[in-house]
Amino acid sequence: MRLGFFGAAGEVTGSCTLVETGDTRFLVDCGMFQGGPEARAKNLKALNFGFDVRKIDFVLLTHAHIDHSGLLPRLAVLGYKGPIYATPATIDLLEVLLPDSAHIQEKEAEWQLRHRHRRGKDERGIPAPLYTVAQAQAALALLRPVPYGQTIVPTDAVKVCFHDAGHILGSAWLEVTASGEGRPRKLVFSGDLGMPGRPVLRDPEKVVPTADVLLIESTYGDRLHRSLPETEDEIVAAIGRTHAAHGNLIIPSFAVGRTQEIIYLLADLVRRQRIAPLKVFVDSPMANAATQITYAHPELLDDETRALIAWQKVHPQKMKLEFVTDVEASKALNEIRSGAVIISASGMCEAGRIKYHLRENLPRSECSILIAGFQAAGTLGRRLVDGARLVHIFGQPVPVRARIYTVGGLSAHADQAALLGWLGGFHEAPGHTFVVHGETGASENFARAIEQKLGWQNVNRPQAGEFFSL
Ligand SMILES: [Zn+2]
Repeated sequence: MRLGFFGAAGEVTGSCTLVETGDTRFLVDCGMFQGGPEARAKNLKALNFGFDVRKIDFVLLTHAHIDHSGLLPRLAVLGYKGPIYATPATIDLLEVLLPDSAHIQEKEAEWQLRHRHRRGKDERGIPAPLYTVAQAQAALALLRPVPYGQTIVPTDAVKVCFHDAGHILGSAWLEVTASGEGRPRKLVFSGDLGMPGRPVLRDPEKVVPTADVLLIESTYGDRLHRSLPETEDEIVAAIGRTHAAHGNLIIPSFAVGRTQEIIYLLADLVRRQRIAPLKVFVDSPMANAATQITYAHPELLDDETRALIAWQKVHPQKMKLEFVTDVEASKALNEIRSGAVIISASGMCEAGRIKYHLRENLPRSECSILIAGFQAAGTLGRRLVDGARLVHIFGQPVPVRARIYTVGGLSAHADQAALLGWLGGFHEAPGHTFVVHGETGASENFARAIEQKLGWQNVNRPQAGEFFSL
């Protein structure tokens, strides 16, 4: 058996692992590299490097995040025609996320073209989009739904079962049995694992007792998250202060996962009478779609969330939730001077409707901005977290007089203790462990924690492009 690592090796994006067993070849995830100027070159190189996509028998997809799924259309462009297996909720999310990813790339290419024309140059050297909306649609046609707990047999040599990973809606860790070469071998792919005890989704399902090969993510393998009660206290403080000052509360949020988590936390705080009744606007087409898809899958939600949704139905006036769809209604939100909570995307304030809300509310000292997610270096969100007194939005200077709150405890990823807790479900150490999907420091630190706290051996940190024969 051979494993090839094409991304998320020494970094957190571009998840893509090739498995060869006997005559069977398959991929686990096919994600886009994101962030940094070199991402585009890596995306172009990833699938032309090291394997022929037409010789892949099937693809297993752990979840819908673009850093795990974003190169699936590229795979199809390069000639892949086989099945892509994913859970039904993952497929629902991809139907929104992949065309959106293509749309962003088409817009970026158009912008570059206009920019060159303005400078009197021709289009030579303009990078084409990685894929178009039509090509994303073509890739969607290859998706095949697999519910949790159902074993599929993609080829005679391979059996696969998807288990709930509790990370985002539809996310899975994979149990794969490969019998292409002699004795059947068990492989476990963690995908991205959620933080147990957090609202909306169920906790990650317990791992199988034994495995020959394990791939484990390590995004937060070197740290512990702040507790949920601390996070709630921070939200209560932000709402209390904004209410007293007669301003608005603006929450930049990732559309998938984080928005639904914030809606849950706000409704729960109202129900427990820790905050007064609220009027909440969700103003992002993507967040609206992701929230509707979440509500369409009540079977995937945890008991607390189902109970809270039932309470909201009985008490709709306690937290009025409005999904803003058209652009005019979004602009009308700018007229509201106080009492509104506006959740909008993008999560790092770089694109989308959030920029309009920040332009309107940042200069007003009575307003507050609640930052509830990771902000990469160089983004508008990061500048706000870092305490900038002046930012630029749409090329115009905007003074920052609103209060900025940073809420630390929300994360879709398990922290070190939760990752080790999940690995503790193994009755014995896997034959080979590969620590993936983490920045160098996080994955090094986590690999050491596995060796020292669990006493495991054969713990590897693969590099991009590296192959292992097992
Ligand atoms: Zn993810």
